[in-house]
Amino acid sequence: MEAVLEVQDLTKSYGGSQALKGLTFSVRQGACFGLLGPNGAGKSTTMKIITGIVEADGGSVRILGKSIKKDGRQVRKFVGYVPQNITLYEKLSARDNLAFFGQMYGLQSKELDFRIDEVLQQIGLFNRQREPVEKFSGGMKRRVNIAVAMLHRPKLLILDEPTVGIDPQSRNHIFELINSLKEEGVTVVYSTHYMEEVEALCDDVAIVDHGDLIAHGSLADVLSRFGHSVVYVESPGFEALVPEVMGGSVSRQGAGWIIDCESPVNTMKGILDLAAARSVEISTMGIRRPSLESVFLSLTGTSLRD
Ligand code: ADP
Repeated sequence: MEAVLEVQDLTKSYGGSQALKGLTFSVRQGACFGLLGPNGAGKSTTMKIITGIVEADGGSVRILGKSIKKDGRQVRKFVGYVPQNITLYEKLSARDNLAFFGQMYGLQSKELDFRIDEVLQQIGLFNRQREPVEKFSGGMKRRVNIAVAMLHRPKLLILDEPTVGIDPQSRNHIFELINSLKEEGVTVVYSTHYMEEVEALCDDVAIVDHGDLIAHGSLADVLSRFGHSVVYVESPGFEALVPEVMGGSVSRQGAGWIIDCESPVNTMKGILDLAAARSVEISTMGIRRPSLESVFLSLTGTSLRD
């Protein structure tokens, strides 16, 4: 499928420290793409370069096949960007904020009115449109900010950590919104340090750490290439069996136990035999697929820093 965004060998230093060390990835049309990494990994810098706010030291960015250096003005019409910091006029209502920013995008009054109605519905704030945004929660403001970036019907929507510090209701609205944009064929690039969000939302991922790309591909592909499955067991008498479990390391997880092993099927068979021999009851047992968190851990040797 056609790449909407191609990032090639991007480098950027701030003073003496290198924020990006040659980042390369591409985003296919219609995908929800997760740019994933701990704080300070280089996600915001990458997004600011893509949207032309920050200039790269080296490398290139192409959007819909066009260079942002040569055709920046033309290309940016297709891009919507939601920065981390909320940029709204607090005293103005949600609708008036949208009208103000819509005019800046060059939208005309009738078309703009119609579009404002649409985006207010999409972010779930149609009924609160006349209230000044200063009365809104952080999550509601973030949703208005997203609506601003959607007004001109971008083909590529870039969201920088849109769910940091917001209420669960707004988080759900943002998830639903991203899914509906995907259905409309909009390509979404989404940065976060919450691995479980990416697992719920994204088709494709790039994991970055210290300005380097450490994995890139479809979510399923990254999980199967870099992660491995584990066995999960719940059993009241399992502790007595732990020293005898073969083929993997055992650790506690919530109400149960995790066995990190090479061959989950053989490990499960071994545990069942052991439990039968000792008359220990197993209430739950199954294979858990690898998580992005475990992939990150196996690739970097560290867990996600927060
Ligand atoms: P992330 O979005 O993944 O948290 P950033 O792109 O914000 O990461 O930052 C990457 C690195 O660049 C960090 O070490 C950060 O401190 C540094 N950095 C980012 N912006 C600036 C800036 N304007 N001036 C100096 N250093 C910066």
